[in-house]
Amino acid sequence: MTAVYKCPYDNLLILNIATTCEERNFDYPLEIIQFSIVVIDTRTKTIREDVKFNRYVRPIINPMLTDYCKSYTGIAQATVDTAEPFPVVCEQFCEWLQEHDFQETRYAFVALNRQDLWLVAQYQFLLTKQPLPAMFRQWVDMNALMTKVHQGQYSSRPEEDIIKNMSNFYNIHYEGAAPNAMDSSDFLAKVTKRFLDDGNLVTVNETLRCFFGNRNIPLTVDPEWRTKFNSAMEVHERMLPLISCHTGRFFPVEHYGMCHYCKNPASVCTGMEHKQYPKDVYEQLREPSVFAVKAGLVKGQHDHFGHFVLNRYRPTGEFQGAGVQGRVVAVADILNNRDGLVMKRALRAEDYHRELAVLQAMNHQAGFPNLHDFFTTPAHLGEVQYFLVTDYEGETLYDVSGRTKGGISYFNLMRITYKLLCILESLHMRGFCHRDVHARNVVIRQEYDGLVRIKLIDFGMSLPLTPPPAPKTDLTSWHASLEVCRGEAYTRFDDLISAILVAMWTIRLDPFGNDKNEYQARKVAFDANPLVWFTKELKWIGKLYNSIQLQRSSGYSHTDMFDNFHKWDPEFDPTSPITHSVIENQLRIE
Ligand SMILES: [Zn+2]
Repeated sequence: MTAVYKCPYDNLLILNIATTCEERNFDYPLEIIQFSIVVIDTRTKTIREDVKFNRYVRPIINPMLTDYCKSYTGIAQATVDTAEPFPVVCEQFCEWLQEHDFQETRYAFVALNRQDLWLVAQYQFLLTKQPLPAMFRQWVDMNALMTKVHQGQYSSRPEEDIIKNMSNFYNIHYEGAAPNAMDSSDFLAKVTKRFLDDGNLVTVNETLRCFFGNRNIPLTVDPEWRTKFNSAMEVHERMLPLISCHTGRFFPVEHYGMCHYCKNPASVCTGMEHKQYPKDVYEQLREPSVFAVKAGLVKGQHDHFGHFVLNRYRPTGEFQGAGVQGRVVAVADILNNRDGLVMKRALRAEDYHRELAVLQAMNHQAGFPNLHDFFTTPAHLGEVQYFLVTDYEGETLYDVSGRTKGGISYFNLMRITYKLLCILESLHMRGFCHRDVHARNVVIRQEYDGLVRIKLIDFGMSLPLTPPPAPKTDLTSWHASLEVCRGEAYTRFDDLISAILVAMWTIRLDPFGNDKNEYQARKVAFDANPLVWFTKELKWIGKLYNSIQLQRSSGYSHTDMFDNFHKWDPEFDPTSPITHSVIENQLRIE
């Protein structure tokens, strides 16, 4: 034990972050879902049990946690559903710093290694399109400090379980089951205290910079980088604008928040622009990187995509369907040797541009079709035609529910409705309304991992939510809300009501009949007292309807809407997988 800690800061903020993740996939748009801080007061040499910061965060790109993520982090879907999104939590954190008088330069972050700040924090700020704050640009990399001080005795490579290695080395027990961020912060605080107690210096040893010589050496991308940690980190080091480097010497206070290459403060060298754009890396990728695309890191379109190439798409004859907006055929992409695609011809330029805007904005988001290509035919070939190519995302809920003759279980009905509302919420958060939600525009299929997922398709009617679009034509339909049938301007609540009507349609619960002229009158009656239409097991649908109608005047509330599910049966998890069977190659929902 030393008399005074060797540490130039009044406080050490021991940080740990949990993110969304998917098993064996490093090309994943990481979003923070938990942010935890434990404090060491270096003057009193104590871990402050009375002052902690621990918040859960609601992810936006993938609002639904994967099963892998839930078991890895121990975080439940309902926990993030009721949490605030990252910008709000970050603001709360800044207020917390002020409240406890933790002043910049007088504290330093301590992290397990470089991942939490270089990768996760940097990426989260890229997603929210904010400059990376000065406070997140330097930190104590505890794994590197220990490796340096205990040379030959302690070492832990990035792909290894650092917590386990530290725990074994110091014989400090990790309290907790899954690697929860708060438990990890508690653990790392004990390790850091022990390191200080032994008389070792704790100071900033890792900083971010916008340029690094090694990045000029071309990287041969491992074709399996998406599933291999080290190869993925090599790719991420190129894709992310700021790279983390060890500081060779003592970290002077003037260097706080500064870029160690261009010597500019964080307000100038923001990390929002890439000074070593890795064009060669992107050229080597067979498929666009979801990680890079989601954060807007890729410049321009993929070379061949977005342009007309004669005879590129060959119809496979698997199915053919004509919708109101255009023709849909199953095709294979000859150029890239890919089948399982759907090509849609829009009949009007206007529909094409509307749909393209939404598909581009929502691409790679859970619940939306993957946009493969889009193009218009050149004028010299005759009348200009408009095409959109997406992945084939499954059969329509209309067809699949018809197969079970309305026999879908109440649990699956709840799961489907919950997911559909989540999908609509993320569409609304990107500023669009769908305006044509019905059971033929919801597709469902069993995916490669055996789970059944639903997606929303057909954005030919979609428009920006603001200003609320006034109808140019009569949008009355079975699935339209009463307000839409009355010709009122379209709002997000009309999409949500249509989603509830999809649920009712799926079990053939029909209060509106099939005479279009009577829809409005029947919807007035339904709206006045929806609960009478539902049996005891289905009352939640009527309550959900009332709750959304109420929000038209009280304002949208994520929590109020999803509480309807959690409160109805607290034992039931509406995010659990849809139960199903596949009989003679046909999907059946139980
Ligand atoms: Zn710089």
